[in-house]
Order: sequence, then structure tokens, then C-alpha cells
Amino acid sequence: MNYISTRGRAPVLSFEEAMMTGLARDGGLYVPQEIPRLSEPEIAALAGLSYEEAAFRVMRPFLGDTFTDEAFRDIIARAYGGFGHAARAPLVQIGANHFLLELFHGPTLAFKDFAMQLIGQLFRAALSRRGERLTIIGATSGDTGSAAIEAFRGLEGVDVFILFPRGRVSEVQRRQMTTPSEPNVHAIALDSDFDACQARVKDLFNDLAFRDEVRLAGVNSINWARVLAQVVYYFTSAVSLGAPHRPVSFTVPTGNFGDIFAGYIARRMGLPVERLVVATNQNDILHRALSTGRYEVQGVTPTISPSMDIQVSSNFERALFDAYGRDGAAVTQLMDELKSTGGFEISQGVIDRLRDTFVSGRASEEETRTTIARTAAETGEVLCPHSAVGVHVAGAHLGPVPMITLATAHPGKFPDAVEAATGQRPALPLRMADIFDRPERVTDLPDDLDALRQFIRERITN
Ligand SMILES: *Cc1c(COP(=O)(O)O)cnc(C)c1O
Repeated sequence: MNYISTRGRAPVLSFEEAMMTGLARDGGLYVPQEIPRLSEPEIAALAGLSYEEAAFRVMRPFLGDTFTDEAFRDIIARAYGGFGHAARAPLVQIGANHFLLELFHGPTLAFKDFAMQLIGQLFRAALSRRGERLTIIGATSGDTGSAAIEAFRGLEGVDVFILFPRGRVSEVQRRQMTTPSEPNVHAIALDSDFDACQARVKDLFNDLAFRDEVRLAGVNSINWARVLAQVVYYFTSAVSLGAPHRPVSFTVPTGNFGDIFAGYIARRMGLPVERLVVATNQNDILHRALSTGRYEVQGVTPTISPSMDIQVSSNFERALFDAYGRDGAAVTQLMDELKSTGGFEISQGVIDRLRDTFVSGRASEEETRTTIARTAAETGEVLCPHSAVGVHVAGAHLGPVPMITLATAHPGKFPDAVEAATGQRPALPLRMADIFDRPERVTDLPDDLDALRQFIRERITN
């Protein structure tokens, strides 16, 4: 299995190389050259398997000969062994034909653990075999950073640097990043917003000399291995509701378009997915793009669902690449235009193609709060604000096809917003309850590329 860049001018890589590289050297994102398909009997056979075995069968065709079957099974077992629920991704019903996929039982209580725990184990296996070291760098609006730190803390041969926008993540999110004491963990509070953090990470990757000097690797949602890990729960949940014999739809609280793009891959692999509903908060670039055909950056407004406070949705580039018939030159042109003018027009044929798969909606802050309160009252299920955005938007798309809304974080991660909506403060699971007592370690840096480069050079431990 080979991987190609969405901009068409980077070397073709293996799964392992694409995973270690993150962003392609031409600025694009790696995608598989072909999407493998699972047959109907293969999909039907996933029913009743453990999450780990289903994960093996769904992801195996993308790996080529990177790992033996035995090694890959071992990687998966280690990745999901620390989850707090035997089903890993349990499904609960919250209404007629409406189901919630709980993706928050991992070690940092957000769906990012599904991908990050797997990536940690994949990197561990690949690095020890190659006898190499790496510098992991990532930008986070909250949950990616804590998940990455949790996956890489104490790992020999790896330093992990995480940039987060100072003052714009919740206290639990921040503490999950600043309380690990391992010397290879470096939390950086950048004096700016998430888009700036993401832009600086891209700048570091595009500085090819620096990239080689410190052996940079990325674990943001642009990393293909992360998308791949997320494909699995689309399969397990759809199969438990009757796929491949019965179609399902998904509503996905969306920021960087990574999670919902995994749903698109599941559909391309043969899973009968009727609709993928993009749910945004008031930072609604994707909803506007799908509604109007114009993708335009408008600046970020902080919301109670901070992990979706994003205006440049990196993974959307992968969807555009397919919708433009895998024309790397066309994608390059759009991305250049985005960089120079802050937006671009999606051509009519392409927007029609995207709308065959994706529909969209947005939730205001008030609608998000109301949804948390109403869902708790009607079902007893306490939603985090991101999941509530999903449940609100899904409401407009319920019908005869079962709807699965992704619950992307545990409510205890966002206690202030949940308490404001319900009057009750959600607790953290017991295993995390001491997080408020642990000392924090964080470096404040200005939004400045030179300062970042210098800090990274100084702090690398191995
Ligand atoms: C990251 C995140 C999202 C958005 O996921 P994308 O893959 O960026 O679209 C939604 N909810 C939570 C809780 C998250 O951490």
C-alpha cells in the first residue's frame, strides 16, 4: 500500500514512512493511493468481535508489510488496553433511531485517544526496530495535545512538544498537558489562538532543514495513521446496528475534519453510510463552505466547545482532493489561494459531489446549552458541549435510517459548561480525580517561529 500527497509533488511513501512524516514535503497531506474495500461478508463478519479484532481487520489492508499480523495485533492490544470500558466504543440509544457513540473512555477522556494511543504504539514499535529518535510536534485546541502527551510520555527516543493557545483550553485539558512529569514532555502555551498554533507547526514542517535536523514527526489529525484508527469505530457501530444489511448515518462534531473524514473512508471501503452530517459550532467554516460553495476564513470566536474552535480545517484538503478527481495541481491552486486571499471558491461540480456524501449544520452557544440540559433531562445522558453540538445538528436529520452521533469527549472534561447548562457539576472518573493536585510545568512563548525553533533545540532530551 502506497501513500501519495494531496498536492501531487511529494515522494510516494509506505505506510510507515507516511506515518512518521506527517505533513508531506510539498505541504500536502498523505492519502492512500487506493482505498481498499471490505466485501459484504467481511463487514458482516465484524459483528460480535472484540473492538481489537475488528480494528485489526479494518486497518490491516492499509498497512502493507509494515508490521507482521502478530506484531500489529500486539500493537492494537496495547493501544486499547488502558481504556475504561470493555467495549471501547459503546453505543447507547438516546431517542427513536438516534444513538450516541461514546468515544470518551480512553485515558484522556476524548475520542483522540483512539488514534493517539495507537500511534504511540506504532511509533514505539517502528522506532525500536529502526534504532532511531524523533521529535513529535503538535498543535492542539485541547484534546489532541493531552492525548499525544499521554501516548508518548516517557517513551525512549521521543520528545513531544505540544503548542496550545494560552487561556483557551479548559483547566482539565491544560492540566492533562502540564502535569505529566516525564522530561520528554514539553507543553508550550502560545500567546495566540489555535489556528496560529497550527500554522506554526506547519511552518516548522515546511522548514525542511530544521525538520531534518531534529527529525520532526507530526501527530496532528493530518497524520494518516490517526485518520485510519478512527475508521474502525464507524465500522463497529454501524455493524452493531445491522450494517452491511442496513445503512446508517453519522453526525460528527467537527473541527479539523479528521474524524468525519474517517467516516468518509469507511464509506469508501464499502460501509453503507447514507449521510455524514458535519456538525459545527459557531466557528462554522465547513457549514458555510458546504452551504455556499465558498471556503472562507473569518477568524475564531471562543465557544464552550473549544476543541472545535477552528477556522482552517486541515483535513478538508483530503476530501477536496478526492472531489477534484485526485488532481494535486487543482488542490495546490486552492491552497495557494487560501494562503494569499483567505478563501477560495469550490467549483459547482465538486460541491455537488461533496454534497452527495456530506450535509451540515451548526449549533449556537444557546442551542448547545439547551441540548445538554434537554438530553440530560430526557435520557440521563450527560453530554459534553462538543457532543451536544452533534446531537443538536443531528436533530434535523433524523428519519428512517438510524443516526449515530459521535460523543467526542467526557462531560467531566468541560465541567463549567456542563454545570452552567444542567446545574450539576459532572465528576471526572476516579482514576483522574487527583489531577487538580499535581504540579504544572509549562512554558509561555510568543507566537514567533524563531523562539519556537530555539526552544525545541534547547529542550530535546535525547
Ligand atoms: C478534536 C475534537 C473534535 C473535532 O474533531 P476533528 O477531527 O478535528 O474534526 C470534536 N470534539 C472533541 C471533544 C475533540 O477533541
